[in-house]
Amino acid sequence: MGPIKQRAVVESMPVYVPGKSIPNAVKLSANENPYPPLPAVVSTLADQLAGINRYPDMAAVEVRTRIAEHYGVRFEEVAVGAGSVEVAQQLINASASEGDEVIFAWRSFEAYPLMVQTAGATQVRVPLTADERHDLDAMAAAITERTRLILLCTPNNPTGAVLKHDEVERFMQAVPNDVLVVIDEAYVHFDDDPNSVNGLDFFRRYNNVAVLHTFSKAYGLAGLRIGYAIAPEQVADNLRRVAVAFGVSALAQQAAITSLNAEQELQERIDVIVAERARVAESLIAAGWKVLPSRANFVWLRTGDRTPELDALLKEQGIVARGYGDEGLRITIGTPEMNDQVLQALSLVSPVS
Ligand SMILES: *Cc1c(COP(=O)(O)O)cnc(C)c1O
Repeated sequence: MGPIKQRAVVESMPVYVPGKSIPNAVKLSANENPYPPLPAVVSTLADQLAGINRYPDMAAVEVRTRIAEHYGVRFEEVAVGAGSVEVAQQLINASASEGDEVIFAWRSFEAYPLMVQTAGATQVRVPLTADERHDLDAMAAAITERTRLILLCTPNNPTGAVLKHDEVERFMQAVPNDVLVVIDEAYVHFDDDPNSVNGLDFFRRYNNVAVLHTFSKAYGLAGLRIGYAIAPEQVADNLRRVAVAFGVSALAQQAAITSLNAEQELQERIDVIVAERARVAESLIAAGWKVLPSRANFVWLRTGDRTPELDALLKEQGIVARGYGDEGLRITIGTPEMNDQVLQALSLVSPVS
């Protein structure tokens, strides 16, 4: 018996290899919120449990209504998915397939290449600038007749750099108005740069902009899986067409509503994380490390060929960060105690300046 016929592109994709679990390690590898769920979320989930013999609301009417109200957009312009990763896949599947091109910066979110390949489309990776930012001029120059989608990630995962309002305005002038631009704002709640692009503002002013948000990071619901796009109605309709049926559980839908209603409490946690990000960056810089500004809930160290060594050192010290080959290390900002542990561990080695 020969091998089973499968898509070659799929078989060329890497298989996710789970990291070794290290007992009692501090997990700072996935940009999760270090704080436990809000009591109001726990109580919402407890209420929902008795109903899990039923399918969730496939149209997610209540949560989409609440999101629409929160941002002053129309219900029809909101599409949800099992995490914004699923919504990103919906956006790619609805926009591009064989022969079409999807442009994104690289390095950026590691799910982008896999999602584009899954859709059968062609990736167009545009290298970051030397200061870890999107090279928007090069991205504009990469647009061709085949371009179907452009992904902008701000703050960028894993570098933490943001796109500025003015540069995105300039970029949009170069994008044909029938090519969709997706602004992935997974970390927007941690972005305190007043000059950063505001995706919703661009959504309102351009007919070809969609914004991606998630409840996984600032809102602390990573384990529940819910994210959403605010997109032109035509696109949002298509996202619902390609969505996994019943992909967003009732627990996730209701927890999202509870979280939007508890923004004040969540903001206090976000403020602590943002303050800690500054403290960690300043301490590392004082110790001789090169740290560029991050507006997300992580710091990025361009550690080059010392990355495996430093990644291993952190593991020995009970900290799981995210190492990227011989490029760099991304360390999520945790609680103050966790961050102290990181600083302590990194003080044991010579800095990469
Ligand atoms: C974490 C992340 C997401 C969202 O993940 P979900 O948990 O699927 O919502 C989306 N985009 C980027 C860039 C991320 O880092």
